[in-house]
Amino acid sequence: MDEEKMIEEAFNTLVESYLATKHRKKVEKITKAFNFARHAHQGVRRLSGEPYIMHPLSVAQIVCTEIGLGSTSICAALLHDVVEDTDYTVEDIKNMFGDKIAQIVDGLTKISGGIFGDHASAQAENFKKLLLTMSEDIRVILIKIADRLHNMRTLGSQPYNKQYKIAGETLYIYAPLAHRLGLNSIKTELEDLSFRYEHPEEYAQIEYKLAATKAERDTVFDEFIAPIRQTLDSLGVKYVIKQRIKSPYSIWNKMQNKHVTFEEIYDILAVRIIFEPTDMSRELNECFNIYVGISKIYKSHPDRLRDWVSHPKANGYQALHVTLMSNKGEWIEVQIRSTRMDEIAEKGFAAHWKYKEGEQNEDDAENELEKWLTTIKEILDDPQPDAMDFLDTIKLNLYASEIFVFTPKGDLRTMPAGATVLDFAFSIHTFVGSHCIGAKVNHKLEPITYKLQSGDQIEVLTSKTQHVTREWLDIVTTGKAATKILATLRKDEREARRKGESMLDEFLRAKGLTNDSATVDLLCELHEVQKPEALFAAIAQGQIVLGQEDVNKIQNKNSASAASWMRLFAFGKKKPVRKIDDTPDEEVPAIDKTKILQLSDTNRSKYTLCDCCKPIPGDSVMGYVGDKNHVYIHKFQCKTAQRIKANRGNHIIAAKWDIGNSMQFEATIALRGIDKPGTLNQITEVISSSLNINISKLEISCSDGIFESTIRLLVHDTDELKEVMNSLKKIPTVKEIARV
Ligand code: MN
Repeated sequence: MDEEKMIEEAFNTLVESYLATKHRKKVEKITKAFNFARHAHQGVRRLSGEPYIMHPLSVAQIVCTEIGLGSTSICAALLHDVVEDTDYTVEDIKNMFGDKIAQIVDGLTKISGGIFGDHASAQAENFKKLLLTMSEDIRVILIKIADRLHNMRTLGSQPYNKQYKIAGETLYIYAPLAHRLGLNSIKTELEDLSFRYEHPEEYAQIEYKLAATKAERDTVFDEFIAPIRQTLDSLGVKYVIKQRIKSPYSIWNKMQNKHVTFEEIYDILAVRIIFEPTDMSRELNECFNIYVGISKIYKSHPDRLRDWVSHPKANGYQALHVTLMSNKGEWIEVQIRSTRMDEIAEKGFAAHWKYKEGEQNEDDAENELEKWLTTIKEILDDPQPDAMDFLDTIKLNLYASEIFVFTPKGDLRTMPAGATVLDFAFSIHTFVGSHCIGAKVNHKLEPITYKLQSGDQIEVLTSKTQHVTREWLDIVTTGKAATKILATLRKDEREARRKGESMLDEFLRAKGLTNDSATVDLLCELHEVQKPEALFAAIAQGQIVLGQEDVNKIQNKNSASAASWMRLFAFGKKKPVRKIDDTPDEEVPAIDKTKILQLSDTNRSKYTLCDCCKPIPGDSVMGYVGDKNHVYIHKFQCKTAQRIKANRGNHIIAAKWDIGNSMQFEATIALRGIDKPGTLNQITEVISSSLNINISKLEISCSDGIFESTIRLLVHDTDELKEVMNSLKKIPTVKEIARV
């Protein structure tokens, strides 16, 4: 059978790759793990239609060739989904393959259902636990990264909502983790794959431009390296010179962050010199000799020498980066690495042990792993300032948008950056939130508006007489708190309405009047409120006090003929039908998250364009399915969207714009430039006169000859906005322009 042959071939490739490494040869054990996994997953297929075993085989292949781990990890990779997806237990694995492999498989099973899994979103934010899980056995994380890499490579067979969830998590959790562990090529591939699924059009465009400019780059490269080759040859160095092309994701990232076009990115090409040291003890010297040699050919940029040879990065990266001026007058970065440094840069710390002195076998690898684990554990046990810096870098890289705070009992909690005391109170409990009057932050009294800082210890203060008010919505930044405040407000309003309605009923009865819709509408008119609901609420809250005047008016009106009322009815001028505010839950139709939500005009009630990022037609967006199946639309790059992608993946729905030219949206742009008389005129001229776009707000400030301006516009879509920005760019005094 073809499939059987495909499986056998994949396995043979794995064994061959393993035999090509310097590991101790444990083919028998690997074969046993393969046969066991194959049998356990028998008859099961992936969404792509492939036999399931192809997945663990691919993961094992990545673990072996791309990360450089040994037989223990290869076996664990082959077995990684057995406990989760079949009837076999960790105990079974332990009996057949021993403690170590069983422990790793157990770790992998736990995190696929736990921190990194479907259900434990809150935990994914818990940085400390994450580290502790890592430190149990670093191989768990390495295999998990390989697992994710293969899932990303085969992401096309998943439905859209899953694609977004997986791509989002990958960018948020796995790519930084791979970076931290020094797995550079995997990190780059994860980022590029995420980018490709999240922004297919932008990805394709960058790919296209890279291909279109290749010939040009090749020429620059060839001309630039020719004299370098001569020098290296005369020095007698064994070397290869490669082009390093910036990845589509980093290019796009730079375009976004620096607001530049593809054509304006000057460092797409870098040159990498990888040399074979004559002797390990001469490695560092030779690195600098090469530097000295080539800086005789080209002028080097004084501020752009990076020496990670004598001072390796925390993830083990070593290289010498210099930026040289080519004969054509362009700065080109040159990275000088030994073969050893290059392998560590690509495969991470797992490559370290290969270069250890003495006998090279898996026990050495084991020792290296042990050392790494011990370091982390020591840091956690006894946090020293220096060591904490190291942890801080991990923290910063992983969760730049998060802060870490403590409860009075010392429990760690994560909150989004910018969260207030009120957010924190609601994160504990709705009751605590809705009665919060302030907090003791680090034993000092602070108001509910206080913005939390990482490391704060917070004791929430409550009072029974405290009430939720609408203003609170401006204080909170988390969706959770806002939702709870709105729910409480709605509940309070419902109660007030009910109370007001019965107060009214009592009043009318006491005065001998009938409680019908005509009377209620009349009272609405008298007290200038829009709806009966508002009338009831106002009565309950004492804003409207009913009295004799109302009684008189009602009696007068009643004496007028009923016919006039009927006429009014017929003409529809007055509709004494009560509008009901809250639609009951049952009427909300279920939403199919595997479909794409069309953001059309007719669909308007189904979704909300979120205020945090203010998406407009043309932006890449996604939906978050919230309460009552209402969908909240965010831009892909919005902080909230990133949190959702990482933590609430199951709520994601894909969304596409389907709005014609009927609606306008607010968009804000920021400008900076040289302050010359007439600039403001030119700007408004371009926007309103030549493009006929409405400005809804304009702010400008000048200092030291520089002006800064923010302009709020009403546009139909991103194309229109781009047109505005491109036209403004043409004004000579405008130097920077960006959407905010
Ligand atoms: Mn898997």
